[in-house]
Amino acid sequence: ASAWSKVPQGPPSISTDTCTGISEAFKADSHPEKILLGAGAYRDDQGKPYVLPSVKAAELQFVNSGLDKEYAAITGVADFVKAATKLAYGADSAPLKSGSISATQSISGTGALRIGGAFLERFYPGTKKIYIPTPSWANHGAIFEDSGLEVGKYRYYNKDTIGLDFQGMVEDIKTIPKGSIVLLHACAHNPTGIDPTKEQWKEISKAVKEGEHQVFFDMAYQGFASGDTDADAFALRQFIKDGHKPILAQSFAKNMGLYGERAGAFSVVCESAEEKANVDSQIKILVRPMYSNPPIHGARIAAEVLTNPALNKQWLGEVKGMADRIIKMRALLQDNLEKLGSKRDWSHITSQIGMFAYTGLTPEQVATLAKEHSVYCTKDGRISVAGITSGNVKRLAESIYKVTG
Ligand code: PMP
Repeated sequence: ASAWSKVPQGPPSISTDTCTGISEAFKADSHPEKILLGAGAYRDDQGKPYVLPSVKAAELQFVNSGLDKEYAAITGVADFVKAATKLAYGADSAPLKSGSISATQSISGTGALRIGGAFLERFYPGTKKIYIPTPSWANHGAIFEDSGLEVGKYRYYNKDTIGLDFQGMVEDIKTIPKGSIVLLHACAHNPTGIDPTKEQWKEISKAVKEGEHQVFFDMAYQGFASGDTDADAFALRQFIKDGHKPILAQSFAKNMGLYGERAGAFSVVCESAEEKANVDSQIKILVRPMYSNPPIHGARIAAEVLTNPALNKQWLGEVKGMADRIIKMRALLQDNLEKLGSKRDWSHITSQIGMFAYTGLTPEQVATLAKEHSVYCTKDGRISVAGITSGNVKRLAESIYKVTG
């Protein structure tokens, strides 16, 4: 018998609650004006994938410069890691200036979370249980479970208000066992698009402090939410001001459109430069047997975009351009729904932020949207706003209006 004869069939990866599943259904649909609002990848107003001009310029610069393809260090392209941490923590960050942040390049945001999971599993002195919001990015639970951590949940989404369950969230953070690990989405919460306000972040910081918890920020959308990379780093920087020592996962998939290049960074804020050196050494020991060293191409591009003043300025404009287009499509969708005379309150579409809107549509309504209107989104009613264009927003609003009455 084959060695694998006892390997059971896993649950279908192609089902209507996953992005892959709806992409398949979308492909099979012959409607000339079908609309796909699934995956979290930016599209331009023609519905096309977008390579940022600053990214292309940076790439062309070094493709012609005769750089070799030798391995990076275990911790990756040094210039990239330095620039990435500066982007997140801010040039005037106290732990950055005192040299007490341990950082490594990672295989995009997912890889950063995975290194974080492994690091916590090996070294976290408290209970190795990480609490993630309900709901959270679908991969969080799997990443941390595979890292050997226990995964718990805290309240986040209030379906009655289609908003933040702030009270529930703070209550849960205060009542989970002292010294737990709490994962927070730094900005543009996926899948809900609902972020705490600045005042709420301060309260959350207090609650995390009271619980003596370790905070882990997942920052997959810096700049992409508001169009301003500093504004989107507010929560991380506020927590540091409040005396927390966060762990951070960064991704350049969305804000530089480097999806498949897998450029990201993982960092740990330490107490001192000595502590940082110890953490550095252990991160190398963790990474080496996982993948030896990370890919160089995307990191070189991101380093150039972040450190070349002209390209950096251009990039900030392009990030803002993407964020602004998303914000505009939200407004257009809400506006069109209201014009159609919908009696529902659609204000959450514009109060939410980032790539996704949580519409509040039920699974039945989502199914009708697909079947009768050839509009595809995930079963939880999440739409990728990046899939909306000036050309399809009217038909989208009409379809949503029809299924919601
Ligand atoms: N965290 C969140 C919340 C995300 O939405 C994503 C991307 N969908 C990631 C992390 C990681 O993405 P990547 O590995 O492509 O950087």
